[in-house]
Amino acid sequence: MRSSSNWWTGSKDRTIGRPARMRYLILSDIHANLEALDACLRDAEAHGYDETLVLGDLVGYGADPDAVVDRVLALRPTAIVRGNHDKVASGLERPEGFNAVARKAAQWTLETLTPAHRDWLAALPAGPRVVDDLVEICHGSPFDEDTYLFDDADASRGLQVSVRPLCLFGHTHYPITFVLKNDDVDVIRSEQACAATIEVEDGVKYLLNPGSVGQPRDGDARAAYAIVDVAARRVDLFRLEYDIETAQRKIIDAGLPEPLARRLAVGR
Ligand code: ZN
Repeated sequence: MRSSSNWWTGSKDRTIGRPARMRYLILSDIHANLEALDACLRDAEAHGYDETLVLGDLVGYGADPDAVVDRVLALRPTAIVRGNHDKVASGLERPEGFNAVARKAAQWTLETLTPAHRDWLAALPAGPRVVDDLVEICHGSPFDEDTYLFDDADASRGLQVSVRPLCLFGHTHYPITFVLKNDDVDVIRSEQACAATIEVEDGVKYLLNPGSVGQPRDGDARAAYAIVDVAARRVDLFRLEYDIETAQRKIIDAGLPEPLARRLAVGR
């Protein structure tokens, strides 16, 4: 779909010429894993999408920060927010709160990135950002870009604060959907999801994490991404195999900490 109908992406005002059946490709927590990103892009191309939304943490941990930034630039995302690793790896923030492995990877990324890519990452906007009438995006939560949304209390707060029916978030690398319906918060866990679909009901609010492209942590090593169909009010969640061995070898060859390679095989 993208290759045949992306004529409007050259327009400065991206709302002009927007097709009625907009489908967004959702990418979160790519973490410099080019093999996982390319697998997702190939798969998404086959499913069809029009535009791309990126939920932050493009870099950090993986061995291909520059190539991943180039890929994302080529996608010309309609909306993108920064993640905590983007801030640290671009020199915008100190790695406070990072463990030794994350700190080492952030330092390596800072030294590896081209100056142009570093500046571009440092200039990424903080979330949340409203995309259209249905969708908004953030990295951690709609009330704070660095908060990890794990429990019902934080999810409840996020659902109150979000200003669109469907708020997409990342940061935890854990595919999950919190649902606010009749003042109750429900949870849809999608750890087994290879082809799960979430229908967006009228009058209901959703906080949805599609999972991580480049470093899944739900015990499933496969790359995760989603496609939002705006007209159909539907989110399709995808998991897929990718070339983990190559991503691991690049991490080792780059001199990045070895646990970063190991964890890719187990999705932790
Ligand atoms: Zn992340």
